[in-house]
Amino acid sequence: MSRDCAYYLTRYALDKYSFNDFSVNDHRGEWLADLGSTGNFRFDEIDELVEAATAVKSQTGATVKCAGNIWDITEVEWLKTVDDVYCLLYEAEEGIQNLCKRIAAESDIYTEESFRKSVQITLTDEGELSTYRDGVIRLLQPSAFVHEYIHHTLNYSFKEGWIAEGLAVYYSRDYEEAYVRGHNMFGDSFQKWYEEGIIDDESMAKMEQDGAAEYELTIVDYYQKLREKDKDQNNQYTCYEYANGLTDLSFFGTETRENLKYIKTIRDVYDIAGSMEKMDDLGFDLTYQAAMVITEDLIAKYGLDSLVESSGSFEEDFGMTSDEYIKNYIDNKLYMHFLED
Ligand SMILES: [Zn+2]
Repeated sequence: MSRDCAYYLTRYALDKYSFNDFSVNDHRGEWLADLGSTGNFRFDEIDELVEAATAVKSQTGATVKCAGNIWDITEVEWLKTVDDVYCLLYEAEEGIQNLCKRIAAESDIYTEESFRKSVQITLTDEGELSTYRDGVIRLLQPSAFVHEYIHHTLNYSFKEGWIAEGLAVYYSRDYEEAYVRGHNMFGDSFQKWYEEGIIDDESMAKMEQDGAAEYELTIVDYYQKLREKDKDQNNQYTCYEYANGLTDLSFFGTETRENLKYIKTIRDVYDIAGSMEKMDDLGFDLTYQAAMVITEDLIAKYGLDSLVESSGSFEEDFGMTSDEYIKNYIDNKLYMHFLED
């Protein structure tokens, strides 16, 4: 609990109860309900970790140590209140713990403890993207935290940037789904376009002008097929990610896709980040979501440990070059099983 919250809770309780009552009863839930909060009050192990965080004033803000990670908390547009900071620390820690559990379950090499690695995080408003380099995450939006954390902990051969991104998108999906949901980021237009398949005339005209109608309508079609499979689940964001990845793979190498200037491939994003070394592999032409789809199938076929224990060469690990692997995957439409029942 942040200090502000603690202060008001204490006042609330002391106004209504004796000090003795206060010290033996938990009045937090009652206090929050009184404030109009509808959320269930919880105080769990992660709250304990966040409460134990220490903060030291720095030149530009504060340096916060929380659960082994070091956060440079500076003034940024997307962090306004003490509660925002609390949420950021809480959700990041929750994301790390869930990730470690999942990796430990899929790997014989890692345990939850051995997979976990301390990281440094700097908050920023600058640039287009969150990035990870040399042990430091530059965070531009909280939803990207686990993605960047995975770059810190789970690497594959440096040459195969598409697998690094595929791993990061694949293993951060649950976190992002929860984040988008928890922060009400599914807009009305999203519901109409994807859930109901209703696209307004203006957007439709714009899509046709861009030569994007076929591509975008395929995303909607795939989205609805994926949602149909799991109707009762709250997985809109995940379905959206897969619909994009599968559409990108369906249109890979076609004129339609080449002409769609707004599609960002891994190559484009690495260019923006100025971190491109090896540019000529086919994998860099994939979108992030397409890389996720192929990486997921690679893991399903060979296991996560085949990537963890890599020799450093895709060809030695999997018996062909990554270009050959991707080409075969796309030519034979090996991704279509995602759309089947
Ligand atoms: Zn990344």
